Parts: sequence; C-alpha cells; structure tokens
Amino acid sequence: MKLNQTQIEQIDRQVKRLIASGSYYGEVYKSLGITGISSQEDFEKLPFSEKKQLRNAYPLGIMACDESEIVRIHSSSGTTGQPVIIPYTAKDVDDWAVMFARCYEMAGITNKDRIQITPGYGLWTAGIGFQAGCEKLGAMAVPMGPGNTEKQLKMMIDLQTTVITATSSYALLLAEEIQKQGLRDKINLKKGVFGSERWSDTMRKRIHDELGIELYDIYGLTEIYGPGIGINCQYDSGIHYWDDYIYIEIIDPVTCEPVPDGCEGEIVITTLVKEGAPLLRFRTHDLSRIIPDECQCGSKYPRIDIIKGRSDDMFKVRGVNMFPSQVEDLLKKIEGTSSEYNITIARDEKDNKDVMILTVEGDGNYSFDDMAKKIQSVFKSLIGVSPKVIVVPVGTLPRSEKKTKRVTDYRSV
Ligand code: ZN
Repeated sequence: MKLNQTQIEQIDRQVKRLIASGSYYGEVYKSLGITGISSQEDFEKLPFSEKKQLRNAYPLGIMACDESEIVRIHSSSGTTGQPVIIPYTAKDVDDWAVMFARCYEMAGITNKDRIQITPGYGLWTAGIGFQAGCEKLGAMAVPMGPGNTEKQLKMMIDLQTTVITATSSYALLLAEEIQKQGLRDKINLKKGVFGSERWSDTMRKRIHDELGIELYDIYGLTEIYGPGIGINCQYDSGIHYWDDYIYIEIIDPVTCEPVPDGCEGEIVITTLVKEGAPLLRFRTHDLSRIIPDECQCGSKYPRIDIIKGRSDDMFKVRGVNMFPSQVEDLLKKIEGTSSEYNITIARDEKDNKDVMILTVEGDGNYSFDDMAKKIQSVFKSLIGVSPKVIVVPVGTLPRSEKKTKRVTDYRSV
C-alpha cells in the first residue's frame, strides 16, 4: 500500500523534527544527508529502525522534543539486555487513547459497557492503554490489574462486567475457574479483548466455548504507542489498523525490499504524528501481509492478516521464504501425522541447489511411503518447493519443554 500525499507530508515533518531535535535518529539522518521526503521513493531510502538501536539510545536518546513536553514514559520488558524507554507527550498519550477507543468501537463495545481490565499497570503499556481507551470511549473501567482470581470473579459477578480484557493465557485461566466453580450463569460477559500474542485455535475455542463470548485480538507494541493500533472486526478477517496514525509496509525480511500487497513478509511501522519518540520504518519482526480488498464490515481502515509468527524464525529455500507456522498448518491437513516435525536444509554444490529434508511422524495407520508422497505434493502446491520427505514412527523426534528447534540449516556452516 503506497503512501498518500498527507502521509508523505506527515513523514517529511517527522524527519525534519527529528533532525532539529538532535535526537538519535535525527543524527542518523543528518549523517546520511537526509533532509526530508517528498515521494514514496524518498521514503523507501530512509534507513530502518530497529529495537537494538533503541537500546543503544537508552535511556532517553530517542526523545525528539523538549523534555518539558514529556508527560510519561513506558518501557518494553527487557528480558535480555538493556530495556527500551519510550517517552510520550500529552498529545501522544491522547492519540493512543483515541486509537484504543476506536479498537473498542470496532469490537462493538459502547459507553454502556463495563470493562474489566486485567493486564498489568506500570511501565508496561498494557493496563494503562486498556484503561485510557475505555475512559475515552466513556465506558466504565474496572481497573483490576493482574492476579487475585477470586477477586476478579467477585467483581465480574457483582458488577456484571460485560467485557474482559486480558492476555490470552490469563483469559484461559479465568475461563477454567468459572467453569470449575460453576459460575457461568452468574456472569454477564459478552466480549473479550486480548493482546495479540500468537495463540492456538484450540485455546481460542476453549475460551470462546467456556465463556460464550466474542473474541477480539488487539495489535500493538510498546515502541509504537502500545496495544491499540489495530484490531479485528466482527467479520474476523484480519486486523484493521489506523492509517491516520501509522503507516504499515510489508518487507521481505531477507532482502528488506517492500513486497506487493497480499504477499507475506515482515511488518514495518512508521508513526505519522508521534511527538515524543517518532519511529520511522520500525522493524517489528512480526510476519503478516496487507489484505488488499475492502472488508465486509465496510470500514475504510486497511487490514493486515493475523500475525503469522516472527521473521527471526523464517528460512529460505530455493528462493522461497518459509515459516515454521506454514509447515504446521500444512501438516494439520495430512491425516496420520503428529504435530512434531524437523527440517534440515543443506546445499548440494554439485547440482548447485538447496536440498530440504522434512522429517515427520506417522501414527502407523497409513503407509509411510504414501504419506511421504502426499506431503511432498501438498507442500509443492501450497508452498512451491518439493522437499524430500521422511516419515518415522510417532515418538522418534526429540521433544523439548522449551521451544523446540525445528530447522537446522547447514548451508551457512
Ligand atoms: Zn472489517
């Protein structure tokens, strides 16, 4: 999706502001001789911004305005290394609330609703984002924060809250508790709004079935305001995002070139009006695609598909980009396979081509040879590459409680 004229002017202003403020990215642009943009072409010459650069600019190096204008900071969880600190002006805080209120509206939530907020408050952008959006909408916020399940259930019943906001794992825990205590008839929940971590269909179904509510996935990241920059609508066909605040481009994570609308790649976000810490071409490493046509709901806000995974997990064979999630989806279609698989990639120097070996487990109800042939042909038709397929008995491949390493690539060794 190309930039429109307003967006080009907004980004031009951002570049000039960054340079004038002498902030981290202003200095980067100055050193590259960039003074502004006036076209899509100019825009695509801007360097990407990356989380590791934000760490280098710790604590306030990316601030792009006078400190007197900053009213709040948030920080992304720094599980490894230095955290990232994002400063917000009063307008940034308000813009974020406007976007968040729009998310609630997209989910059909109104000022008559009572919203129970269970994500954490504090440096994290979650709880306070859900809260500010709720107040902007004019709904009743019940600001619980995380934990204390008994109290959560008491408030849910006594106040007859209609909307639950949570991480998907906490929503599941609440759902199970409600079922265990037989409280389903006492609660009045209609909708759930959840942070868009990648969660399984099984988990979704369980929350949906046990609570009997509509589920909405909200998208966002601390570096770009926080949650609230997009959400799915009632037709559940991708995530609408607010293109008057952010511009999204999808790039090939390997070549870093933008891909055509509809093609999968990495989400790169540009903030159009952010003041405290504008980020241009920020690489999220989340994988998705632009959904080119208009949504059934009639909204003019563009859509990206649900997040497919992380580009860090991507691999490329014979010029085709592949993600573990694609292989998982594909194996679900083949009867007799388990969820376990393993991919080995090597280079055949003699034939000058990549070799890909896919090992999957078969439950013994089908001939391993037939299964291998079937997987190979489905793989070829869906992904465009024919791997060598080996089927082994269930239990052969290693199990790990941590994230299992699925792909071994010998080409770069
Ligand atoms: Zn829609």
